[in-house]
Amino acid sequence: MKHNFNAGPCVLPKPAIEAAIDAIRNFDNTGIGILEISHRTPGWERTMGEVEQLWRELLNIPENYAVLFLGGGASTQFYTLAANFLNKKAAYLDTGSWSKKAIKEAKLYGDVEVVASSGDKNYSYIPKGYKIPTDADYFHITSNNTIYGTEIKEDIDSPVNLIADMSSDIMSRPIDIKKYAMIYGGAQKNVGPAGVTFVIIRKDLLETVQRTLPSMMNYQTHIGSAPKNRSMFNTPPVLPIYVMYQTLLHVKKQGGVEAMNKINKQKAELLYSEIDRNKMFVGTAEKESRSIMNVCFVMAEEHKDKEAEFMEFATKAGMVGIKGHRSVGGFRASIYNACPLESVQALVNCMKEFEKQYV
Ligand SMILES: *Cc1c(COP(=O)(O)O)cnc(C)c1O
Repeated sequence: MKHNFNAGPCVLPKPAIEAAIDAIRNFDNTGIGILEISHRTPGWERTMGEVEQLWRELLNIPENYAVLFLGGGASTQFYTLAANFLNKKAAYLDTGSWSKKAIKEAKLYGDVEVVASSGDKNYSYIPKGYKIPTDADYFHITSNNTIYGTEIKEDIDSPVNLIADMSSDIMSRPIDIKKYAMIYGGAQKNVGPAGVTFVIIRKDLLETVQRTLPSMMNYQTHIGSAPKNRSMFNTPPVLPIYVMYQTLLHVKKQGGVEAMNKINKQKAELLYSEIDRNKMFVGTAEKESRSIMNVCFVMAEEHKDKEAEFMEFATKAGMVGIKGHRSVGGFRASIYNACPLESVQALVNCMKEFEKQYV
């Protein structure tokens, strides 16, 4: 049996995969597969409406926010959001590689003030005590740092419009949407496959847009004038959206994001406590900044020479995707919503077994 800890794309709920296979063969009892229908067929328009409804229900998204499903990944949002909302100056929190990329793109459109950075300690913590300038057009954060395993686990207060890249922790906990002006992310970490990007946006934000933008770059285009056109200005990525739909149905069936959060915390606690107990390993993120989605750890100083050996040991035991990102090294276990507790337990057992050979 394989235990999938890939950082993204990553493990998805089995029922979602099965439903997608069925839909490829025969979508909505049409006798035609989902890849071969028009996105204007009533069955698809209904599905789009249902996916949006699921997002609204699971995250308690108020009416004055639009929920969009677009192409291009979170990386496309880095410049799109800046093109729409950066008129003079924007504030950014620099908590890792993805923040840095977002900052780089924003600079194409105006001044960027980096209010704080944890780059001094290889992004092993979430900065605190910084000041958000009140004259900024918006304040941008990366809620979960997929590569470094740190996470902003609460909804922060911002005196200016708060924009969050939640690619890797959306739907892992309940969030207070009203604290955010915009939330976006690629689906391929926690809510679906690659190919669809979610954007939750407070509609009044659109009134602040000053630039003339290409249609595809303008959020208003995708919001449309009637709900029927929402996210359907051009052909949407139907299969990724369908898999996302099924993934969220599964989240709902399990009790919603509160239930997910409970089990996510349990999984993270299980793995972190083993890292802290086991003499062979150490965690790389500061304890209070630890992510419940991506758990990063390295060999302890006196066991540095055994990294390749543990990798081989774990691979033989069925662990997949635990190699750490090159900027941190060591290991990273991504334990998103769809990663079962049994997989985390299997990894913990594997770490215990490995320790027995040496301690
Ligand atoms: C993966 C990831 C991205 C990049 O997403 P793409 O959809 O590949 O562009 C951006 N931000 C975070 C936090 C990520 O984890």
